[in-house]
Amino acid sequence: MTTNTGQAHYDTIVVGGGAAGSVAAAALADAGKRVLLLERDEVLAGRARYFDVDGYRLQWGPHLLEDPGSGITAILARFGMTLEHGPTNDGMAVWDGGHWQQAGEFYQSGRADLARVAGEVASLDLDQLDQLDQVALGDWLAARTDNRRVTELFEFMAVLEGQTGRPQDHSASDNLFMRSLHLREQRKPGYSYVPVGGFEHLFEQVGALAQAGGAEVRRGVSVAGVAVEDCTVRGVYVEVGERRVPNEVLPLERIDADTVILTLPAWDVLGLLPGGDVPAWYLDLVARMTTEDARGSWIGFYAALPEPPAVYTPRELAVWFGTARTGLPGFAYTHSMLDPVSAPPDGNLFVCGVACDLAAVRDRRRLATVLAGFEADMEELYPVLAHSTFRVRHVITNFGLKARPGLVGAMRPHNVVPGIDGLFVGGDTFRSRSVGIDRAARSGLTCAELVLGERVGGLEDTWRY
Ligand SMILES: Cc1cc2nc3c(=O)[nH]c(=O)nc-3n(C[C@H](O)[C@H](O)[C@H](O)COP(=O)(O)OP(=O)(O)OC[C@H]3O[C@@H](n4cnc5c(N)ncnc54)[C@H](O)[C@@H]3O)c2cc1C
Repeated sequence: MTTNTGQAHYDTIVVGGGAAGSVAAAALADAGKRVLLLERDEVLAGRARYFDVDGYRLQWGPHLLEDPGSGITAILARFGMTLEHGPTNDGMAVWDGGHWQQAGEFYQSGRADLARVAGEVASLDLDQLDQLDQVALGDWLAARTDNRRVTELFEFMAVLEGQTGRPQDHSASDNLFMRSLHLREQRKPGYSYVPVGGFEHLFEQVGALAQAGGAEVRRGVSVAGVAVEDCTVRGVYVEVGERRVPNEVLPLERIDADTVILTLPAWDVLGLLPGGDVPAWYLDLVARMTTEDARGSWIGFYAALPEPPAVYTPRELAVWFGTARTGLPGFAYTHSMLDPVSAPPDGNLFVCGVACDLAAVRDRRRLATVLAGFEADMEELYPVLAHSTFRVRHVITNFGLKARPGLVGAMRPHNVVPGIDGLFVGGDTFRSRSVGIDRAARSGLTCAELVLGERVGGLEDTWRY
């Protein structure tokens, strides 16, 4: 049964309290709108949650935030909140299949070429990036340099940021967007940090900011559908009560609103988009974006260690295209060096992983074999791992969409859902540039602006997609 309990009527209901939803709610509340933020979990954070294990804080989702300054940092500052950047990584170690090398050493032979290409990247016209949405990063680079080292450095960054394993999966537009922002704002090709206090703390702060602006935040509420009449949004349906058996069908209640922003990842949103009203081509586009092949995934493990396992410097990021047993590209770093609250004072939290296809990890026995091979590879690369006091192995299937040519920027479903007035979708799996927290936050702001019908003052120059 569906009831409308005669509750308050909202200007906008934002569904999902992760990076996109909490920023959208804060922006709309700041603009004086009557906002309701509905989050299924008891915490605001979305994929940026953590779990405590033996005194260590293991990030379930994001490891490092890559906002050079003009993204989530500037957005939150505009609404009165300071996002404090923790320590940044201080180097990059590259495993070339046989040895470690510092990134500087690695591209020594291509220094002049690298400076020239980096100069071009820094001055790219970001408004024209759509033209590169179908171009592979390797092809864009090949037209500018034949130095393999330069190309590999860009591709290492693509592995680190996007978990896209194969060179043909690295789009030119999304990857150059990231490089360009870093180069122009921080004068280096990469810049990443953990917010002081961690990610969950950050989004609880953003939720509090929205509430201070007048937004209502309800946790533990699962939205079951969007209410639509005459091709116009009327609100959302939420489930009422608690399931006593896992398949119990709960009664629904309608909460009224003029506009609704859904910030669930694309692979979850299809269940909430009203099928009869939204045109089939749009639903097909969302479905095509989220096939197994389109989703970034990886396997890896956390390890607790008495010493930080640095190759060159404690805050470095390490990267490779393939280790001996798995042959898969991946990354490693000591998370507690960048996020001190993630380990006790006498411990270090090491994190590593390799990008792989979803299909490859669906078979649990195959997954166990690849993970065992990966651990053996890591023990050779980092002998100190023999002293780890615990390891937590994991498989990630909800990282995001691969930033692959043809699947990025203007090729993705638009934030305005066609066929229904007042319905919007946001987050880094819809129209945005590249993957991650910063992009999700920018997308949340975009959705708020679409509701408002104008750019938020002071953020007109924040680049979105
Ligand atoms: C393992 C992993 C590692 C990552 N590493 C990085 C990284 O290093 N750097 C980086 O920047 N990004 C990283 N990301 C990506 C980053 O987590 C996402 O880009 C970001 O969290 C997306 O935010 P969002 O608000 O768009 O979506 P989400 O965080 O997914 O938020 C959606 C919210 O909707 C809620 N919800 C879902 N269904 C309903 C419903 N029916 N009713 C009500 N609420 C609902 C969910 O509970 C959730 O809170 C990583 C992700 C993963 C999984």
